[in-house]
Amino acid sequence: MNHFELQNGELACEGAPLTAIAKAVGTPVYVYSTATLVRHYQVFTGAFRAHPNLGEPLVAYAVKANSNLSVLKTLGDLGAGADTVSEGEIRRALAAGIPPERIVFSGVGKTAREIAFALKVGVAEINVESEPEMLMVAGVAAQLGMRATIAIRVNPNVSAGGHAKIATGKAVDKFGVSFAEAARLYANASNNAALNPVGVACHIGSQITDLAPMREAFTKMRGLVEQLRVEGLKVERLDLGGGLGVPYFHMPDPPGVKDYAAMIAEVLGDLKVQLAFEPGRLIAANAGVLLARVLHIHERPEGRRFAVLDAAMNDLVRPAMYDAYHDIRPVKPREGEPLLYDVVGPVCETGDTFTRERLLPPLEAGDLVAFMSAGAYGASMSSEYNTRPLVPEVLVKGGNFAVVRPRPSYDEMLAREPLAEWLGSH
Ligand SMILES: *Cc1c(COP(=O)(O)O)cnc(C)c1O
Repeated sequence: MNHFELQNGELACEGAPLTAIAKAVGTPVYVYSTATLVRHYQVFTGAFRAHPNLGEPLVAYAVKANSNLSVLKTLGDLGAGADTVSEGEIRRALAAGIPPERIVFSGVGKTAREIAFALKVGVAEINVESEPEMLMVAGVAAQLGMRATIAIRVNPNVSAGGHAKIATGKAVDKFGVSFAEAARLYANASNNAALNPVGVACHIGSQITDLAPMREAFTKMRGLVEQLRVEGLKVERLDLGGGLGVPYFHMPDPPGVKDYAAMIAEVLGDLKVQLAFEPGRLIAANAGVLLARVLHIHERPEGRRFAVLDAAMNDLVRPAMYDAYHDIRPVKPREGEPLLYDVVGPVCETGDTFTRERLLPPLEAGDLVAFMSAGAYGASMSSEYNTRPLVPEVLVKGGNFAVVRPRPSYDEMLAREPLAEWLGSH
């Protein structure tokens, strides 16, 4: 469920009509619903509360899904932690008031500087993804005279995840180590004065719509925890990652969080570990839309009909990058027979096509359309390709809205690039 609904014949976010937001801020613009973010977070945490044997898990929201500071603060104020993959994301989480003891630092290629930063601010744990990285963390910690709390990220070698570019849990993917390797690294870490191994972690992919691969992966993770304990090693935490899929309208509903929590209670309920989760898409995707305006309706003699928008692949790259599907809804749907449209942006690449031959209510130049389910991996992946100003973001709460990332001016954009000194100045 989300809070984007028709009110008096036009699409609104909670109590704020999207036409009013477009008028005040211009298009393209991302619009997020506070009530939807809150609801998704509460549904997620509530599903686990129904299984007291799972304890109180750490829900570390995956910052990369939507890293806007106001979104982070909204979730942080509810008690969410943060799963981060760079120093920049750690800084964002801290700036949003998320305490370091709820911040997890993941990622395949952390630099020494980033590791030092994470250690100094005291993040809850660094998830290490390889032996060289573990040695690097130990080296940095030793230099600082600190002991790094780590978890070993395991690659459970299962197939999951919608698109090949977002599957992460196969042995051929770059993430994590094998089970055998994990056991060896864990034992080594326990003998290293600069390391404090507290647990193991996995994350098998994104937009996963079937619980079976997750059950398989979590069962294997359980086996690893038991094996480590038999070897006399202490394992206190088990981080199960994110990846649960969301409905993008064209597919059957993915498993709900209730089923997910019940499966986890069944597989891990008696393991006596502190669980951690890293949901991103599940929290943010359906809490946001990308609002755009139709510039032209261009009909080709061959019969194709193009709706050319003022939003492009630099604002929302998912269709071009992952062949992702977004429901597209006119903000004020017109009467009349639906027609087939190719919905495209103005960028000079054929890849700048949001969808082909989509049946939509009739559109005219000047109409507003909303890309639904665009709250995750939308603005956070946006760029200024084609020197298009970075897309702004708006957060709605009830009838109020606030610009939480303004559109930069052209002067601001150009001022970021000093000319090489031998070229003079501008
Ligand atoms: C991307 C990522 C997540 C979030 O994935 P979602 O599919 O958005 O839930 C969680 N953990 C790690 C390590 C990730 O890389």
